[in-house]
Amino acid sequence: MTSRTRTRLIFAFLLFFLDSTALWAGDAGDPRRETSPPQARSIILMVADGLGMANVTAARIHKNGPDGPPLFLELPQVGYQRTYGADGIVTDSAAAASAWACGEKFNHGEVCLHADSKEPPKSILELAGMKGKATGLVATSTITHATPAAFASHVASRKCETEIARQYLRITRPDVLLGGGWSRFAPAQPDPCGASGDLLAEARARGYSVVHTESDLRGAVERGASRILGLFAGEAMTPENRRTAESFEPPLWEMTASALKTLGRNPRGFFLLVEGSQIDHANHRKDLPYLLGEVLGFDRAVKTVLDWLEEQPSRKDSTLLVVVSDHETGGFAIHGPRKGLTAKGGSIEPGWSFTGGDTSQKVGHTGVDTPVWSLGPGSSLLNRPAMENTEIYRVMKSVLD
Ligand SMILES: [Zn+2]
Repeated sequence: MTSRTRTRLIFAFLLFFLDSTALWAGDAGDPRRETSPPQARSIILMVADGLGMANVTAARIHKNGPDGPPLFLELPQVGYQRTYGADGIVTDSAAAASAWACGEKFNHGEVCLHADSKEPPKSILELAGMKGKATGLVATSTITHATPAAFASHVASRKCETEIARQYLRITRPDVLLGGGWSRFAPAQPDPCGASGDLLAEARARGYSVVHTESDLRGAVERGASRILGLFAGEAMTPENRRTAESFEPPLWEMTASALKTLGRNPRGFFLLVEGSQIDHANHRKDLPYLLGEVLGFDRAVKTVLDWLEEQPSRKDSTLLVVVSDHETGGFAIHGPRKGLTAKGGSIEPGWSFTGGDTSQKVGHTGVDTPVWSLGPGSSLLNRPAMENTEIYRVMKSVLD
């Protein structure tokens, strides 16, 4: 080899080295260019139903003051998602939850089942179950209502809550089901899909510990029950701002802690959905104390998850946590006070943009984008503007190991 050839070879090698270093640095700097997605053993999806950004601001001002720290739910990775459904700009909870659960846009009222198709797509909870992971649903409304239902059932109408319960027990079999709605498991009348019967007895026969109080839930968790059906109210659970010291219903944070303790025993990990269901209801009713109680109750459940992650470093490295809202409800805004800051513990002057009072919940949802907060493996993939809500399904599916 001549000295000239050697010089050329060294120069070529240097160029190659510099080039590959630059490429590697570029990939590390832009997570969207990662070739293989990060892997998560467990996924915790926390849904604040009907929450808009102005609700977060109001609750933060109330709890921490206008210049205080963020709420716990305000996780480090932030993006926002489009909420529209297959049949309208303004969605309902069924179509919105189905987009996350099954990765497609659905019509109002559809629960991971298109009216014109026989074969429903598999939900992220079902995919997790097929990988041998534990699964769970936690909600403060009926556990069979639209949001949790999308993850563990396939029905043409969200109104078929007993059919949804039947599918939970017979088909998808989540290990943990905690929330309200015992009336749906033992209905006086068949639901619109014709489902009826004593599903509480059936749950016991199928190996679930069926509990109805906070203390019985604690007992089941301490005993190490592997399947728990906890139904703590006939309909939706009692709102945070109306709870009393004598309440036998566990708050959302405690249901979340119970689910984590039970599902966390599975060495293959788990998929858990936790929903603060009634932020939506409070916005429909234009009720600020109800709203603040529900947002802060949900925030405490997020804190419970963050504490659980901190307990063991391996949990943090292997768990994707996503906090998201399905749609904004009410066109809520903060109108004041215009003069004088509201101190910590104080409140704001609220306004909702839709007309009419409403307990029917037929009006009030809006079509604005909603924030997506996340933490853990895969969260950098959710740090993006104007994502489709179906993108959350795709990210969860791609990181689920
Ligand atoms: Zn609603």
